[in-house]
Amino acid sequence: MEFSERMLVLQVGKFREADLWVRLLSPSRGIIAAFAFGGSRSRKRFAGCLDTFNHIRVHVKASPGKQYFALQEGVLLEGVSRLRRDGGRFGMAVNCMRFLQSFGIVPEGAEKAHFLMRETLRVLEGCEDVPKLLPVFFRARLAFDQGYALELAHCSRCGKSLSGKPARLLIRAGRAVCPVCAGASSDYRLPLGSDTVSMLQSLHVLPPGDWAEPAVHPAAAGEFAEAVDAFIRYHVGITWEDGRFVRR
Ligand SMILES: [Zn+2]
Repeated sequence: MEFSERMLVLQVGKFREADLWVRLLSPSRGIIAAFAFGGSRSRKRFAGCLDTFNHIRVHVKASPGKQYFALQEGVLLEGVSRLRRDGGRFGMAVNCMRFLQSFGIVPEGAEKAHFLMRETLRVLEGCEDVPKLLPVFFRARLAFDQGYALELAHCSRCGKSLSGKPARLLIRAGRAVCPVCAGASSDYRLPLGSDTVSMLQSLHVLPPGDWAEPAVHPAAAGEFAEAVDAFIRYHVGITWEDGRFVRR
């Protein structure tokens, strides 16, 4: 089996003297691992391709018995340079990439994940004002896109609109209730200010290029990150421990 596809390079490592192993995000297959035999020497077959965060077109061949993929040749479609020179931007990109890998991407969710990662890299490469919360935005949007959506438009008990209002997030149910109804629920509740509710609502639909931090109080940013990470911890099972994402 052979195929050619546009993919994002997530990680590259050395494997023996001249060979590399590569982890790629395909828009049709999800995350795949492959070897690039001769990859660290062959400038002709992989000119400038095999670097983290590059978007490449690559020709892949499955081994007999389909035990592994081997990259045959690649062409660089879109690279990053500013992102590599800027430690803050690079750190955010690595954080998003590691979360994506901990999450694991199956073929059904691959197209959305590929779009999200690619657009996030474009923001980190090209935008003058990168939101400080970008990695949290990324985590939330990836979870929403992969089937863990939050229902935040209306109070799940009385049905009143939550737009522009504070709410309580019911972590287990993935829904929110208005403060009046919050007392009646036994679910684990997290208070959300009105800014956090609208940030979470808009993240379901806005592409990364339109993500912007509203001028909110620093406490709201902390509250937003806490809500996203509590939701992901409960539903996806990913936590941040000792400087890395761990999936339980
Ligand atoms: Zn209510």
